[in-house]
Order: sequence, then structure tokens, then C-alpha cells
Amino acid sequence: MSKVYIVPVGHVDSEVLTRIAPCLEERFLFQFKILPVIPVPAQAFNSSKKKYLTSIICENIRDYLPFDAKYLLGITDVDTFEDSSSLLYNFSNPEDVVALVSTQRLLFRGSREFPEKDIFFQRILKETTHEIGHLMGFRHCFNNSCVMYFSYSINDTDKKETFFCHECEKKLNLIQNS
Ligand SMILES: [Zn+2]
Ligand SMILES: [Zn+2]
Repeated sequence: MSKVYIVPVGHVDSEVLTRIAPCLEERFLFQFKILPVIPVPAQAFNSSKKKYLTSIICENIRDYLPFDAKYLLGITDVDTFEDSSSLLYNFSNPEDVVALVSTQRLLFRGSREFPEKDIFFQRILKETTHEIGHLMGFRHCFNNSCVMYFSYSINDTDKKETFFCHECEKKLNLIQNS
């Protein structure tokens, strides 16, 4: 079975990590393994934006790519940005094996109060599923309840499901059986 590794970058709740691995295993039929925590690379910090550049974090975590990894997914608690878009919670390049999800903006709701633990977990599950979907070659889906729908805001993330729509599920089965 293909292995996907999750690397916590900075302080990520260990409960979230142990909960998320079996959920992702069920969806993707890959084996998910958690790597030891690595520090947030200081060189990724942009002092004017007070955020971390995702592409630099991704390059950094690539150094920790295990030899048998199909994919490597970083999860970080710091706020991240990418030059191409300020709205993204996460980042991945199609045809790459490394992706990153930041939990920082998944904490917020309009008024920025802390969401319930379970809602926070569901959001992380949705965004990690979404990023692994991209690594597998999925593009964004126009069905706003599909996990591959692009989240323009946290409300979009809350509205979509943690799983693929019927059409994307068919594609996933084809990929898995090929
Ligand atoms: Zn996306
Ligand atoms: Zn879909």
C-alpha cells in the first residue's frame, strides 16, 4: 500500500494528527504515517506581511521526504501566504509530491472567535483531503459540496463535505484501480 507521510511544521495539536490519519486512510486507501515535528523555517517569514511563504516551507519539508513516500503533506499552525493568492489556506503543485496546509486561518470565523474543536477538525480534514486530491491530479470541482471545491472563504470550507462528490469519487476509483 502506498505511503503518505504527514509532517507537522511547528506546533500542531497531536490529537488532530492522530485523528486525521485514519480518516484520510479511509478516504484514499493509502497508509498515512506521522513524522516527527520539524521547526518552521525562519527564512520563510515575511516581516512585512507577518506570514510565512508556503513555497519556502514546501521546499524545506522536501528535505524530510522519506524514500518510500508517495506524497508528503505538511501541516502547520503558522499563517501562510503565496504570492499568487492571499486567499489560499493551503498549497500544492500539481505533479508534485509535497503539499502544505495551514490551520491558522481555519481557526477563524467571521468574528474570529475560536471554532468548536470538532468544526476545526472537520475544516482541517477537508483542506488536507483537498490538497491530497490535488497531488493525485484533481482540479477544482464546481460542486460546492465537494471537497475539491475551491474555498473562497471559511464559509465555503464549512459548507463543503469532507468527501468527494459522486463525479470526483468515480475519478478517484479510476485512479485507485489503475
Ligand atoms: Zn485547491
Ligand atoms: Zn467533485
